[in-house]
Amino acid sequence: MKKDICALRYEELKNDIESAGEKPFRAKQIYGWLHVRLADDFSGMTNLPKSLREKLDREYEILPVTMEERQISKLDGTNKFLFRLWDGNMVESVFMRYKHGCSVCISSQAGCRMGCAFCASAIGGLKRNLSASEMLRQVYQIQKITGERVSNVVVMGTGEPLDNYENFLDFVHILTDEHGLHISQRNVTVSTCGIAPKIRELAEEKLQITLALSLHGATQEKRRRLMPVADKYDLSEVLSACDDYFKKTGRRVTFEYSLVHGVNDTQEDARELEKLLRHRNCHLNLIPVNPVKERDFVRPSRENAVNFKNKLEKSGINVTIRREMGSDIDGACGQLRRRYVETDGE
Ligand code: SAH
Repeated sequence: MKKDICALRYEELKNDIESAGEKPFRAKQIYGWLHVRLADDFSGMTNLPKSLREKLDREYEILPVTMEERQISKLDGTNKFLFRLWDGNMVESVFMRYKHGCSVCISSQAGCRMGCAFCASAIGGLKRNLSASEMLRQVYQIQKITGERVSNVVVMGTGEPLDNYENFLDFVHILTDEHGLHISQRNVTVSTCGIAPKIRELAEEKLQITLALSLHGATQEKRRRLMPVADKYDLSEVLSACDDYFKKTGRRVTFEYSLVHGVNDTQEDARELEKLLRHRNCHLNLIPVNPVKERDFVRPSRENAVNFKNKLEKSGINVTIRREMGSDIDGACGQLRRRYVETDGE
C-alpha cells in the first residue's frame, strides 16, 4: 500500500527521504510542495528530478479531497463546501471571513459516534476517521478555491477530534509547522464533547491551541440527557480535565453551550451555569440551537438568549452569543452532508 505522504510530519518525511538515499534538502522541497504550494500530485513538482517524482509516485500518494459542492452566502460571504474523499465518503467544511482574517471549520471524521441529541452528524453514526492529510487538505483546498489566506482553523465540523486523537495531533503539528502553512497554534481551536482522558493527554502536549468544551448542560443530569458521552465521563471529571488543560498550557478554555428552548435555557439553568463557571477563567459561547430536520429541538427567541446571556454576564462571566454566519445557506451544522448521505440511499 502506498504511504499517505501529506500525513507525515516534517521530521518523518525527512527521515523517509534521507533513508531512501536522497539529499536532505529534498525533504524540505517536497514538504514545501505539499504544505505551502498545496500540490495535488507529484508530476507538478518541477524542481525535483523526474526520477524522484516517479519514485514518490510509486511509493506515496496524496489522498484526494475533491470539491463536490459549494454554497456561498449572499449575506456575509460564508462558504460551505462538501468534499469527496478517496473512498466516496463526504465531509463538510466552512469558510468564514472575519475582520481579523479568514477562518476555516473542518471535519475530523466522516460521521460521528458520540450521538449528541441535537446534532445532525450523529444520525448516520461513524463511517471512519479522517487521516491527518484529509483534515489538512480541507484547509488547503479552501485556500486554493477562495484564493484567500486562511489564518484561523477550528476543528468543529463533523466528528469528534479526540476520538481520532493521533491523526488530530499530526494534523495540528503539520498545520502549524514552520515548513508548512505555519498557522499560529493560538489560531487553532479544537472542540470536544468531553473525552476527559484525552483532554488530559492533550494538556501534556503543551500545545498553544484553544480547547473548546461542548458543555450544553450545567448539571450532570441535564448534560446526560443531551450527550451520551456524559455517561462515560461525568461533568466533574470533564471540568477537572479542562482545569488541568488551563493549568498546563495557560490557555483559557472556551465552553460551548447550545441553547435549546425549554431544555436548557431557563433562568434556573443560567443559575446552575453561573455556579459552574463563576470561579473559572474561561469564555462561554452561547449557540442558539440550529434546528435539525430529524429532531424537534427548538431555538429560543432572541430575547430569551439575550436574557440568559445577561444573567451570566452580571456575575462576571465572559460570555458571547455566537454570531450566526451564512444563515441563508444553512441547513443546520452538518446538514449539507446529511442531505447527500440521504440521497445516496443510506
Ligand atoms: N465533536 C465535537 C466537535 C463537533 S460539533 C464537539 O462535540 O464539540 C461543534 C459544536 O457544534 C459542538 O459544540 C456541538 O455540540 C455543536 N452543535 C452540534 N449540533 C448543533 C446544532 N444543531 N445546533 C447548535 N450547535 C450544535
